[in-house]
Amino acid sequence: MVASLTSHEPATGVLLWQGEAGDVDMEVARARTAWPKWAAQPIAYRIETLRRFVNVVRRNEEALADLIARETGKPLWDARVEVSAVMTKVDVSVAAYSERTGQRRLEANLGARQSVRHKPHGVMAVLGPYNLPAQMPNGHILPALLAGNAVLFKPSEKTPAVGEMLVKLYHEAGVPQDAVRLVQGGPDVGKALTAHPDVGGILFTGSAQTGIAINRQFAAQPSKILALEMGGNNPIVLWDTPEISAAATIIIQSAFLSGGQHCTAASRLIVKDSLADRAIAEVKKLADRLIVDHPHASPTPYMGPVIDNPTADGLTESFLYLMSNGGRPIKHMVRTQPGLPFLSPAIIDVTAMKERPDVELFGPLLQVVRVAEFGDAIAEANNSRYGLSASLIGGTPEQYNQFWSNVRAGVVNWNRPTNGATSAAPFGGVGISGNHRPSAYYAADYCAYPVVSAEIETPRASIGVGLKDIDVTAMGD
Ligand code: NAD
Repeated sequence: MVASLTSHEPATGVLLWQGEAGDVDMEVARARTAWPKWAAQPIAYRIETLRRFVNVVRRNEEALADLIARETGKPLWDARVEVSAVMTKVDVSVAAYSERTGQRRLEANLGARQSVRHKPHGVMAVLGPYNLPAQMPNGHILPALLAGNAVLFKPSEKTPAVGEMLVKLYHEAGVPQDAVRLVQGGPDVGKALTAHPDVGGILFTGSAQTGIAINRQFAAQPSKILALEMGGNNPIVLWDTPEISAAATIIIQSAFLSGGQHCTAASRLIVKDSLADRAIAEVKKLADRLIVDHPHASPTPYMGPVIDNPTADGLTESFLYLMSNGGRPIKHMVRTQPGLPFLSPAIIDVTAMKERPDVELFGPLLQVVRVAEFGDAIAEANNSRYGLSASLIGGTPEQYNQFWSNVRAGVVNWNRPTNGATSAAPFGGVGISGNHRPSAYYAADYCAYPVVSAEIETPRASIGVGLKDIDVTAMGD
């Protein structure tokens, strides 16, 4: 029986979308059949098609932003930023394709040419998260299509409507119906895709827990490509600075943009003890002013609800856990609207906790740790299995140099938020935040494999050593 799926607007609880889970075998077969033709198109053709996609998205910009806002609960302005990232990704992918996986000619003997070219893997499955339901999967789909792969896209079961619209826009732009396929469903459908023998690779964005499960599943399938973009437990370190107000703003942006539902959101504020009281008061003052409301509300909210009630329940339970295990609340986490997943931004000082859980609390929850020395701040920043992003606010150039050298993360910033990375640069984390296959500009690398060829138009060869002389007497009359 085909499973029925639904999606509800987090901000209202209203039913937004209803549909059925995809038929994995059928979708893989369709993509597999379409792939050779798509792969054989000249690159110029694929570039032109994907450039048309930008125009199609631009024509549907407001509708897509509105749908993202309604399905995720993020404010409309925030959803517009996401749509804009979807559009700019095309130029970035085209530049990255030619720079990272373009053709190269090498010198070779006997007048032969030696070339390095890249080939697509075949059918790639893209598994998307709910927090950036268009931008993140698009960051895999575009480079995969450009390189000549066919793509099966499984959106998060929490954002099927945005997934459906994204694929519709690809088709409208002229990407063949079967070269990019939508496969709706939850973890079971994801598992069926990762297990399918005809899927050549998985491009995954989601939690570390799921990524590790897929990695385990892939242990016996080394021929398949696996790119894992996972979560974080990201530190933001505050050190000496006269700019406390700007520092507080950067901390708020890092911790609470999109309700803290960014993989790069700051979860841990590590602050110099002597600065802490003044800085925390400033951060709290600003957090108290943040408007949490419906995506389309007026005045414009800074953040909306989290994705659903179970997530909101989990976050409030986590806050209570931290509180009852030595955490000192600075700003309580409050469910602001009964029955709906609106959470006020929360701040808790966990310095006194004996054991701080190293988990990703994916929501508006900032933990504070006070330290005395700069070296302690770096040690605390590294006190996590994750390693996605880290920022230093304040400090001297020498301290930033030390921070940059010693902190373990794929994104390391100075006086800038932990989030908001550009797709024109590589993006990925270490530890359990990734598997050393950074995406964004470097996504091109895992969408194709290099092929080296020695080539010459006419066979030409000679063996210079190790041959017996020709016996001329034995030759014919
Ligand atoms: P998730 O891990 O629950 O789900 C991600 C996708 O995997 C979904 O499509 C889901 O259906 C599928 N899935 C779940 N279990 C599966 C399984 N066993 N096998 C195959 N597929 C399976 O993640 P989420 O809650 O949707 O998204 C939030 C997470 O994504 C956070 O941890 C966040 O940090 C992370 N994220 C990371 C990045 C990044 O680029 N590093 C960007 C955005 C979000």
